[in-house]
Amino acid sequence: MAKSKYEYVKEFETDDRLLRNVYILVRIDGKGFHKFSAAHQFHKPNDVLALSLMNHAARCVMHELDDILLAFGESDEYSFLFRRSTDLYERRQAKIVSTVVSLFTSAYVYYWRDYFPDKNRPLYPPIFDGRAILYPSEAEVKDYFAWRQADTHINNLYNTSFWALVENGGLTPKAAENRLSGTDSKAKNEMLFTEFNTNYSKLPAIFRKGSVLLRESVPKDQDKNAIIPILPETLPGSTSATAVPQLTPGQTSSGPQLSTVTEPSSS
Ligand code: ATP
Ligand code: ATP
Ligand code: MG
Ligand code: MG
Ligand code: MG
Ligand code: MG
Repeated sequence: MAKSKYEYVKEFETDDRLLRNVYILVRIDGKGFHKFSAAHQFHKPNDVLALSLMNHAARCVMHELDDILLAFGESDEYSFLFRRSTDLYERRQAKIVSTVVSLFTSAYVYYWRDYFPDKNRPLYPPIFDGRAILYPSEAEVKDYFAWRQADTHINNLYNTSFWALVENGGLTPKAAENRLSGTDSKAKNEMLFTEFNTNYSKLPAIFRKGSVLLRESVPKDQDKNAIIPILPETLPGSTSATAVPQLTPGQTSSGPQLSTVTEPSSS
């Protein structure tokens, strides 16, 4: 068929294919989740159901996109590592990033009620942004995840101390901020222990270290429906653990499958 006279506009599209043979990392982050978490009364400093919903949405992304090897989540963010050789969408950046963000966001809303049954649906549509970063070797990839996990630790120690001062210590948010200003990790640990009877290192690992989703190979002769069960993320002391609905196996049933959320090995 002859080209229409309008078709030249297609030539304005730019080629955004990412460099070959390097790791593609996509990180998504919630927009304005400081406000979103307050509006939906997330438990402070950590709402375990909100984290579980993030994990569920990330699992959906990994089920859809086979080339994601590993994902790490904390707070309102998730990082997805693609295999070096991926040829997903011919490595077109916009296609890759927008698909991850779109699926993550729709899954977050789609499964919302399974985690917040008394909050029928979010009060307003949540927004996530996304970016792709290229890493040439495993060394940078390892450091990337170490960086995100260090961030989890620093933020969580601060937030745990802050909310202890506000909720149990009776300080105003401003006073709590002043009290913590300039304190190092040791001082915060000490304060939690002596003033609030809290052993920081005994808090649930999901709060201190974040969540990891790992794709594991399942032997071909295994039952094709035998996906590794996705366990409810029951945490010690959590009274409101909700069973995570089972996800159906991806189309490539004998291919790699997802394991459940696991704890990173070191702090
Ligand atoms: P931006 O749009 O720049 O990302 P933001 O408000 O989302 O702004 P972040 O730095 O991304 O800021 O921080 C996320 C915020 O969401 C933090 O304030 C954190 O306390 C809150 N939050 C995210 N997840 C949870 C959770 N599971 N429980 C409690 N609070 C949460
Ligand atoms: P790709 O992932 O490459 O975009 P696609 O299947 O989405 O593949 P498109 O070229 O985007 O292919 O075409 C969209 C398809 O969705 C068409 O087949 C169209 O018939 C169907 N479709 C979209 N909207 C409607 C609608 N409102 N009613 C009926 N069919 C629709
Ligand atoms: Mg941000
Ligand atoms: Mg955010
Ligand atoms: Mg964030
Ligand atoms: Mg389409």
